[in-house]
Amino acid sequence: KHMKDKDAVVLYWAIDRFGDESLKKCLLASDRRKMSYQDWEMKRFDDICTVCHDDLFLKRELHAHPCNHAFHRTCFLKWMETRETPKDQLCPNCRQAVLAIRNHHGSDSKFVAECLGESGRPTKNYVLRDANVLKMQTEDYINMQHKQTMETLKCVQADYMSGRKGKSSAYLEDCESEMEKLEQRMEIYNEMYCVFMEGGMQRHDSMTTAWNYRDEMTKIKTRKLKEKIENLECIRRDINTLQSELQAISNNRMITPPRTPLLLNQ
Ligand SMILES: [Zn+2]
Ligand SMILES: [Zn+2]
Repeated sequence: KHMKDKDAVVLYWAIDRFGDESLKKCLLASDRRKMSYQDWEMKRFDDICTVCHDDLFLKRELHAHPCNHAFHRTCFLKWMETRETPKDQLCPNCRQAVLAIRNHHGSDSKFVAECLGESGRPTKNYVLRDANVLKMQTEDYINMQHKQTMETLKCVQADYMSGRKGKSSAYLEDCESEMEKLEQRMEIYNEMYCVFMEGGMQRHDSMTTAWNYRDEMTKIKTRKLKEKIENLECIRRDINTLQSELQAISNNRMITPPRTPLLLNQ
């Protein structure tokens, strides 16, 4: 009601870009700071996570390298992990390729974030594709991801333990949700390794098929049992042949008197 024209234009743009829910947060955040939306919009990259539009200080944050934009850790990782291809893993603010992430645990340049597609969970197809991209054996790739996930989990557990003295509940819940995500992820990699050792993890399905340990194991066990039955069917056919030979012999039909070597010698 009391908006100036300029503010209205900015608001229109904001609704168009972020949708209603985010707009509410934007307005609340600008109101808190007692500045116009436009001023706030100019400054928002500094102290706001542009993924969720909340204040950065509420949760753990990280910086994208090389552009140095800051985000909540979990918001940024979720954004990166739900991209379709590693090429899509760009900074949400400036669309530059993210080559590393930096947080209080230090910098990690060789591992930015897994690229898992819409579900944000490891699936057979994304794992096979990324192992191929990195020119790694499937089992080595799964092993590496499991190890990496475990190391990250240890860091997050440390964040959680140190945060219990004095950090907000938003901070602790953020740690908890990441710990849960990482534990689930380790379990999936564990299951994938078991399936691989049973001879699975070979062929691609459709890209969107969610990981299902039971389904994978059922497929493998079914195939193996069918192969065994097939082999035994061959043996049964061999036995039948031998039995009819035996029958023929016992009926004296197969045995003809030999040319005796004694006669040939004369
Ligand atoms: Zn955020
Ligand atoms: Zn950026």
